[in-house]
Amino acid sequence: MRDGPGRLQGLERELQRLEEDIEADKKRIQDLKKTQREYEADIEDGLAHIRKSRGRIMSVKNNKEYRALLREIEQTEKGNADQEDKVLGCLEGVETLSKELEAKEEGLSAMRDRLESEKTAISKEVARVHEELSDIEKSREKLVQTIAPQLLAKYEQIKARRGGIAVALVNNATCSECHLGIPPQMYNELQRQDTLRFCPNCQRIICWKEAETST
Ligand SMILES: [Zn+2]
Repeated sequence: MRDGPGRLQGLERELQRLEEDIEADKKRIQDLKKTQREYEADIEDGLAHIRKSRGRIMSVKNNKEYRALLREIEQTEKGNADQEDKVLGCLEGVETLSKELEAKEEGLSAMRDRLESEKTAISKEVARVHEELSDIEKSREKLVQTIAPQLLAKYEQIKARRGGIAVALVNNATCSECHLGIPPQMYNELQRQDTLRFCPNCQRIICWKEAETST
């Protein structure tokens, strides 16, 4: 539960990276298609040029002019063949990228599902902790009513002054909150558990740890 929000953030970052990756792929596919259309327009121009040259062949006046026209047509055809290769390159690129994109989109959808179930699990856990806290608060209210008002006032006073912790356990003659030693005489007296005692250093109410764990 404690690493829940961290895990969620990690997943969200991963999700965002994948979304950006997918957007970049889509852009690359669009660019490739645009380039492809440019090559196709070149080919159209080349074809129009060839048609025009062929038309002119009918009206050539001499052999030299005829050869020049044939050479021009040949060169345009060669140019078109090059552009057709480039169109094929674009088509292959689009195909490869589209397959990659499909796989990434599947991954994204799986990740979104995972994120959703993580969120649900975390909110359930939060609800459970709130319920537990409310139970603890209810039992505290009941307990408070059984404590002498003067003692309760003292407890609240220490709690306010000592960062919300009014009671310290003492183990091996050491205060668990301020970590300083309890004098031997006081430690012996503490183990009798007959009256309330306070840590000489942090002034918290002290309890003997072994008594605490045995009850
Ligand atoms: Zn202390």
